[in-house]
Amino acid sequence: MTSEYDYILVGGGLQSGLITLALRHHQPEARVLLIERDSHLCGNHTWSFHPMDVKASASPWVEAAVEVRWPHYRIQLHDFEKRVELNYASISSSHFAKLVGDCFGTSSDSQKSNRLLLQTEVVALTSNKIVTSTGEVYRGRLVVDCRGPSSHQENRFEQCGYQKFWGFEIELKSDWPFTVPTIMDDRIDQADGFRFVYSLPFEARRVLVEDTRFADNPMLDRDECLDQVRRYLAELGIHGWTIVREESGVLPMPISTELMPGATCDGASSTLAGGYTGGWFHAATGYSFPLAVSFAETIATTTPELASQAVQLLSKGHYARSRFARFLNRLLFQLVQPKSRYQIFRRFYRVLPNESISRFYSHQFTPWDAFRIVVGMPPGGLRPVRFASSFFKTTKPSFQVEPKAFETQESNESYSKEFAK
Ligand SMILES: Cc1cc2nc3c(=O)[nH]c(=O)nc-3n(C[C@H](O)[C@H](O)[C@H](O)COP(=O)(O)OP(=O)(O)OC[C@H]3O[C@@H](n4cnc5c(N)ncnc54)[C@H](O)[C@@H]3O)c2cc1C
Repeated sequence: MTSEYDYILVGGGLQSGLITLALRHHQPEARVLLIERDSHLCGNHTWSFHPMDVKASASPWVEAAVEVRWPHYRIQLHDFEKRVELNYASISSSHFAKLVGDCFGTSSDSQKSNRLLLQTEVVALTSNKIVTSTGEVYRGRLVVDCRGPSSHQENRFEQCGYQKFWGFEIELKSDWPFTVPTIMDDRIDQADGFRFVYSLPFEARRVLVEDTRFADNPMLDRDECLDQVRRYLAELGIHGWTIVREESGVLPMPISTELMPGATCDGASSTLAGGYTGGWFHAATGYSFPLAVSFAETIATTTPELASQAVQLLSKGHYARSRFARFLNRLLFQLVQPKSRYQIFRRFYRVLPNESISRFYSHQFTPWDAFRIVVGMPPGGLRPVRFASSFFKTTKPSFQVEPKAFETQESNESYSKEFAK
């Protein structure tokens, strides 16, 4: 069977969903085929982002998808507490899947121009043709490969750390003590890297509480995370809660430069790749949302024939930032002892103004932002010479050869004193 579409989106996750919404906004007449191998779209996630991260032209269709929004959020790193005056927003994958699914109508009234195929695996693809596991062939003016992390081999990065988390959405018998998200609260047991709790109060009595850590290995144990969350809730004086949903993830945080924005799945294919497959994620935060929005907006505001060129331009604009984000991961995972990693985040939230924090998360940071993030007196930052020289290291450094500026009790104390001033 052969079909004709303007766009064929392979994989029904975040990136394809965003492209679908962007196309409906910018090119409502476009003929779109979306193919997902699972029985439902978008997996099981909560996607959060700073609404300021989203560029103005994409705002109307992104804003329409937002499920929960907060006016600001909290950070608690050791004794440092900050209210960050930036909007924060979340979308559950179930809500997002419904919005995306609605663009395709139901199977009975399936619009001729748009088609959604679930439980259909794509086994081969080129820039204008795909083949499914049952041998069907579909043709389109543009194929976009959005197959996500599973399209890459397990060890895709020569060097990386991991952001890993297990989230428990809970219902409480009493109100949650905070009305806004806590993006980091590290006052918990620090075994296995730098570890903190992330919480999103969707309602006063319905909260996602996530045990999160930046660690050197990808192992994640659900029961151990649950114990951590249980202790945290007890510390907050929360008793009487039940788990209503869970989500988990292990996101590689690359140090080496594989999978930069604009990548293709096999490194040589001419098929345009979006989302994780195309390197459209923030290497230093693990967030995909802002870059996936930029990619979707770029695709939807040009023609299928000019899309590759437009994406190439977009990727050039993100190249240096992607390198810097990888440098930050090297700083976090290789230059700093796990027990001192919190200092990097504390410095980040302490020295940067809100606009710079927002630009950082949206992968739009300036060279000056980048400089301010890392350069300063140890232990909170890197001396300029060390900062510059660290860019020229090609081999994996070890804690033994690096000055341990971040790790001593003395440095922690002097940092606290400096902060207390
Ligand atoms: C629990 C969790 C929470 C997260 N929270 C955030 C967050 O708060 N903010 C943020 O920005 N990022 C977050 N991330 C990261 C973000 O979700 C991912 O980076 C993002 O989903 C990548 O989007 P994608 O479309 O490339 O891949 P995915 O969303 O993984 O979608 C890929 C889809 O392709 C399908 N597929 C794969 N192969 C085939 C095939 N051969 N044929 C057909 N279909 C196929 C898969 O089944 C999947 O549905 C989170 C990740 C996890 C795991």
